[in-house]
Amino acid sequence: MRQALLLAGLLAAGCGGRVWDLAQPIYIDVAADTPKAAMFALGLQHAIEATGGTVSPDKVAQRIFLIRGNDKDCKVGTVAFTDTSPGKWDTVGICDSQALLNFSQAYADTNAGHEWLHVAAGRRDHLPCETRAIMAAYSDCHGLVPFQPPDFEYLCSTGNVHGGRCQHEHDAAPDL
Ligand SMILES: [Zn+2]
Repeated sequence: MRQALLLAGLLAAGCGGRVWDLAQPIYIDVAADTPKAAMFALGLQHAIEATGGTVSPDKVAQRIFLIRGNDKDCKVGTVAFTDTSPGKWDTVGICDSQALLNFSQAYADTNAGHEWLHVAAGRRDHLPCETRAIMAAYSDCHGLVPFQPPDFEYLCSTGNVHGGRCQHEHDAAPDL
């Protein structure tokens, strides 16, 4: 049976978020009761590394939080979501759903990667299904990671992300 998993319950367009410097390390703060905590923490690490950042085992200033999603945020079919309420944007919730039962690391990498791009770019919206990008809304629209070129455009589009994969974007600006 084909199942369209909605990767994040938030479809409204808009952006917010905070500034991320991928030249500086990031600490992944994992709540102990996060479903599949180790898999999703590793997934986030892989996603951060794929965008040119590094993860630190030390509690450095830049932090991303991994928590257990509550019933309000975990709608049917949702695996993971980004908290886009004011002052958040650094928190990814994991829903304790049936979908996690036979989850592979590649699926965790893909879901964590999708949420990392919401967090880093500060964007709630998704790319069209036809792009086949990881930032398309539904898992049926794309394969597993790696990120596709439109995903990196999404990452760097808001100017929230400095360094890493967005370094080139900034360097390319004309030096007037
Ligand atoms: Zn999403």
